[in-house]
Amino acid sequence: MTQAKIETASFGRAHRALGAWWEQYARDLPWRFGRSTPWGVLVCEVMSQQTQMSRVVPYWQDWMRMWPDAAALANASAAEVITAWGRLGYPRRALRLKECAVQVRDRFNNELPQTYDELISLPGIGDYTASAVLSFAYGQRVPVLDTNIRRVLTRVFAGVESHGGSTKPQDRELAQEALPEGAEAAAVWNQATMELGALVCMAKSPACQECPLCDMCAFLAAGRPGLGEGRTRPRQRFQGTDRQVRGIVLAALRPLDSGQTLPKEQVDELWSDAAQLGSCLASLDEDGLIEIEPGGAIRLPR
Ligand code: SF4
Repeated sequence: MTQAKIETASFGRAHRALGAWWEQYARDLPWRFGRSTPWGVLVCEVMSQQTQMSRVVPYWQDWMRMWPDAAALANASAAEVITAWGRLGYPRRALRLKECAVQVRDRFNNELPQTYDELISLPGIGDYTASAVLSFAYGQRVPVLDTNIRRVLTRVFAGVESHGGSTKPQDRELAQEALPEGAEAAAVWNQATMELGALVCMAKSPACQECPLCDMCAFLAAGRPGLGEGRTRPRQRFQGTDRQVRGIVLAALRPLDSGQTLPKEQVDELWSDAAQLGSCLASLDEDGLIEIEPGGAIRLPR
């Protein structure tokens, strides 16, 4: 089955089947169903870029209690923001979110903008995040493309495995073509397709027997050719990596009081490989995540 052969009726059937599934199985996440502000939706999208949504929930709740809008976050210190980011991983995202908050406060009067061009001009916001905010927070009829959505659409309508990598023009065409007419229906479709990719149509082992699209999925009908071969990147090991060392350093700093330093002797004990520790400290410093004093003590930035 090629994209050219997809009939509009197939999309209509898929919209109905997935809409019903969404009503029954959508996870009750606190930023969904109109319970959060557009700013809250953006925070959740940034937090879940490289972290599972279920892990994000407690962090998001604490974060939104402390900094309910962009102006509140813009006024927080870097140390507070890095501390609250906790173990979400890739902590540079926290500083980018704070930079974004400063711009939203100063350029947009503390209101997250409602156009793609304005959103994409903000620090840390790329194509996916801008589209997700427009669809999920503002209810605009725009296609949203992340890895999960691409995998589901490619499998169901093109009948082939999705190979990851950068988004291709045919991915955008398919996402645009598959989008329901109404803005509200389009927002449900985007979220439901993403949810299906996260919970049922997984990369390696899709649970086709539980899938609401199983009787119309071209990939299943074709015998799931090349299943899982899209995952060309082997999972990165974590033990012993710079990511682990950077995480250990930040974990040692978070419990300290504001401005308090970790003495050099204690820094040296954080990791046995002194060269690797040194280069990780330097990269954390370059990223603005720590400050190193002349004697070698470290602290979170003020
Ligand atoms: S039938 Fe299987 S491959 Fe097709 S969308 Fe559902 S889970 Fe994915």
